[in-house]
Parts: sequence; structure tokens; C-alpha cells
Amino acid sequence: MIALVTRMSEDVEQLWLTSLSENMPGETIVPFRHLDQAAREAVDIAIVANPDPADIALLPALKWIHSVWAGVERLVGELGESRLPIVRLVDPQLSRTMAEAVLAWTYYLFRDMPAYAKFQQQHIWRQLAYRRPQDVMIGLLGLGALGAESAARLKHAGFNVIGWSRSAKSIDGVETFHGDQGLDALLGRSEILVCLLPLTVETRGLLNAERLSRMPQDASLINFARGPIVVGDDLVKALDAGALKHAVLDVFDVEPLPVEAAYWDHPGITVLPHISAPTDRETAAAIVADNIKTYRETARLPSIVDLKRGY
Ligand code: NAP
Repeated sequence: MIALVTRMSEDVEQLWLTSLSENMPGETIVPFRHLDQAAREAVDIAIVANPDPADIALLPALKWIHSVWAGVERLVGELGESRLPIVRLVDPQLSRTMAEAVLAWTYYLFRDMPAYAKFQQQHIWRQLAYRRPQDVMIGLLGLGALGAESAARLKHAGFNVIGWSRSAKSIDGVETFHGDQGLDALLGRSEILVCLLPLTVETRGLLNAERLSRMPQDASLINFARGPIVVGDDLVKALDAGALKHAVLDVFDVEPLPVEAAYWDHPGITVLPHISAPTDRETAAAIVADNIKTYRETARLPSIVDLKRGY
């Protein structure tokens, strides 16, 4: 039996239940709230979206967990101790959606939209110099499922792309870096820096004052990964000092971003409400179903989250 364990509203959970059940007609999938004691004991797989760890602890026969989100830092933090295998969502549609967002907001910065919006507010007719994409360097932090697709999309649009990952990588047309020295080299050349790293012990606070100061004068930042990777106060100071030009932030330490947060009114910050790459319920349900079918047929798990690495 499969438990659906979420903290979604009942309506949204029902939509997920319908999509998952359509893709797995042979499976019994039951929302946690509807499981009685006997049913809880029969559950061997949990499909989860931000589950309450207390609910997971009430499933004694659970063998593994499939998240319908790509980011799993909260699951790893809350369930790491249980040592249950965690499978995260890897969905080509999600990668395409993120790559589209990366391209869209790269264009937003590259074509100086924040500046023109301010000029309009002030009734100023002013034309900034045009630069071609091939004259602009985009630095990507993270070259995983989302980063690799974004790199390809940016290259296709004519930008120069450099990227950084934990292990050494080779990507056609993209100069790649890894390790601490690699990070410094990438930061020093990134006119637009796009963060697509997972939040882990190693990446928390990675973009601090020291590292931001390595970026070229007037560089911009796009953070589509997780809020705590960037030290907010350091970012604001770099923007206030005129060292950095602009930041597009889709993710924050606390979400929803509190109404009193200074980011909302900062002229150098564009606030987005965590919309860069929403999970597509239809494609995600099909992928989860496929993984579960393979497991039923072969007892093999899909690639699992490395709890020590944190992603
Ligand atoms: P992924 O496939 O696991 O890729 C992560 C990349 O980051 C890999 O290239 C990895 O290096 C690199 N990395 C991890 N730790 C590192 C470190 N300490 N130093 C250098 N590089 C490091 O993850 P993904 O599917 O691309 O997703 C990335 C993140 O995006 C998720 O964790 C999630 O937080 C975020 N996300 C945000 C949204 C949104 O709507 N804003 C939507 C979906 C996901 P290796 O290749 O060497 O392993």
C-alpha cells in the first residue's frame, strides 16, 4: 500500500491523489489522514510533499519515500536520522521550466529592464548601451538536472556560460569549474550569476560578503535555488554599496517572504514568490509511477538522495 503524506490543503492533495492513481491503477494510494491503524502497518512506500515527520514515523513497514519536489533539504533534515531511502523528483519537464525561467530572468537583467522600469517611474528618456549576448558571461552555480538544462538554453541564446559543480564535469561549450578555487575563478568572471545549487551544510551561506565581492563590478545575481545559500545582509550591503547591480530572488530564508521584509522595497531587488519552476503534477505523477513500477517489478530503487552529501 502507498501512503500520500503531505501538508497540502485537502483540495490540492486530492488533485495529486487523482493524478497518481490514474498513473498507477494497480496500486492502492491513500492519503495519510485516511489511513487506519491496520492500513498504516501495510504501507511500504510513501509519496510525500513536505510531510510531517511525525506522520512518517507512524508507518512501521515503510521501505522508502518518493518526494514530488526536486529540493529535499527539509526532508533530509527531518528524516535523515530514520535512514529511509529518499527518492527526489527528477523530471525533464521541471528542468525545461527552470531553464525557461533562467533564460527569462537573464534577459530581464541583460536587457536592463530594472533600469528602464526606474527611468519610466522618473519620466526619464535614456538609452543604455546595447551589448550582444556573446559579450556577456553567465556563471551557473550547480550543473545538475536544472543547471545543465539551463546551461544549454543560455548557450542556445548566444550567451557565454561557465559553470560550477561539486565534482568535475564536462559539458559541450561550457567551461566548467569545481572546488573552492574553481568557485573563485567562476565568480570573478560572472556578470550574471545564477544559483541552482541544493541547500546543504556546504552551500548554506556560500554566497557571503567575501564571495560576492569577487564578482565583477555591476554584476547581478539570480537565486532560484534556496534562500539560505545567500547571506541576505551581505547581498543588501553589496547592492547598497553599488558593487552589485541587481538581484532576482525567487527563494528566501522564510517563505512566504514576511510583509515587513526589507527585500520588498529594495530598488536593487526583484522579489518573486518561488515560481521559477513549479512541479508539473501530470509529468511528476507519471515519473513517480514509473519509479514505483520498476521497484515493484525488480525491487530496485531509483537513484536515491545521498544523506551524507545532503542532496
Ligand atoms: P541536482 O541535480 O542534485 O544538482 C545539484 C548541482 O549542484 C550538481 O551539479 C552538484 O554537483 C552541485 N552541488 C551540490 N553541492 C555542491 C557543492 N557543495 N559545491 C559545488 N557544487 C555543488 O539538483 P537539481 O535538480 O538541479 O536542483 C537544484 C536545486 O534547485 C534543488 O535542490 C532545489 O533546491 C532548487 N529548486 C528550486 C525550484 C524553484 O522553483 N525555485 C524548483 C526546483 C528546484 P555534482 O554535479 O558534482 O553533484
